[in-house]
Amino acid sequence: MQYIPFNQPSTLGKEFEYIVRTIMDRDLSGDGAFTKKCHAFLEQHLGVPKVLLTTSCTHALEMAALLLNIQPGDEVIVPSFTFVSTINAFVLRGAQPVFSDIRPDTLNMDEAKLEKLISPRTRAIVPVHYAGVGCEMDTIMDISRRYGIPVIEDNAHGLFGKYKNKYLGTFGCLATQSFHETKNFTCGEGGALLINNMEYADRAEIIREKGTNRSLFYRGQVDKYTWMDIGSSYLPSGILAAFLYAQLENYQRIQEKRRQIWQFYYENLCDWAEDHQVKLPTIPEHCEQAYHMFYMLLPSLDLRQALIAHLKSKNISSVFHYLPLHLSQMGRKFGGSQGDCPVTESVSDRLLRLPFYNELTESDQARVIESIRNFNFCL
Ligand SMILES: *Cc1c(COP(=O)(O)O)cnc(C)c1O
Repeated sequence: MQYIPFNQPSTLGKEFEYIVRTIMDRDLSGDGAFTKKCHAFLEQHLGVPKVLLTTSCTHALEMAALLLNIQPGDEVIVPSFTFVSTINAFVLRGAQPVFSDIRPDTLNMDEAKLEKLISPRTRAIVPVHYAGVGCEMDTIMDISRRYGIPVIEDNAHGLFGKYKNKYLGTFGCLATQSFHETKNFTCGEGGALLINNMEYADRAEIIREKGTNRSLFYRGQVDKYTWMDIGSSYLPSGILAAFLYAQLENYQRIQEKRRQIWQFYYENLCDWAEDHQVKLPTIPEHCEQAYHMFYMLLPSLDLRQALIAHLKSKNISSVFHYLPLHLSQMGRKFGGSQGDCPVTESVSDRLLRLPFYNELTESDQARVIESIRNFNFCL
């Protein structure tokens, strides 16, 4: 039986040609031809006024924390059920995390519990569109406006997903994307900052270029460049941008393939899931998902672990996901304790992700499904 991995990055064909072109053109550093192509592509397709490629989503989040001037003691609201970078980027500036629980249906930040978490020190709300399914942005943006607190969308899973017909990543003043190997579109390690509020645009360029106005200098808008602000080096090499552009220009092909994989799992597991009290993903009517992953919620931790072991015995890799951040070693230092986010705690124990990648074949997928259906539910 051949091994079926959980994730496997794929190339679409032009990656090599574009990388060779970058090398031949001696265009290796940041903000060269392919970086500009990626910026323009994302700006045009999403309708975002300004996009900047970054070295990772983590770094795009760090830029957001710098742009918001997060100071020691400021509070930032994030879901407990997310990747560490969503909050670590703000904690680096001295922020105190405030962990929100998630909705039991979409596993997104529970907007009904959001207002209670706001204090006079709240400086940002950072929702995560889990599995590329939109958070309840109408409610979140309404709270943001009423309290004057900026929203930063961590859209690492959600590129090309929509909420009420509007692209994810276009709601908050800033949003971040990831092009890590595990995401729908990749260049190995990479990311982007989406700037929806142009008041942040000039300073974002400076922060990304080591605190200098080098971008203005390259555009001929100043005759020398100098130190303007704090900053770091957040721009990726032209080689990575070349690889990424080959993926982005094929985004419809990638998304259509992922849609088919997702549907195949859903259709072939629906009846089994219902019979065994397993919950499949909820996609609200008003959301178009980004087909980032396929997960199931098992009735208990024991059953989840047993199913992982069963699939492993069939040479199939399936994995759990985020551990609650409020219960992590760092989360506890910030006062997190058992029971703070009960939905997160329960979901984290019971969630299982199935193999999901662009080149997953229908026969391999059928083998995963058959193995699941053969799992003996009575332990
Ligand atoms: C992958 C991921 C990140 C981090 O992305 P990098 O590009 O690896 O820094 C951040 N947030 C979420 C929700 C992610 O899934």
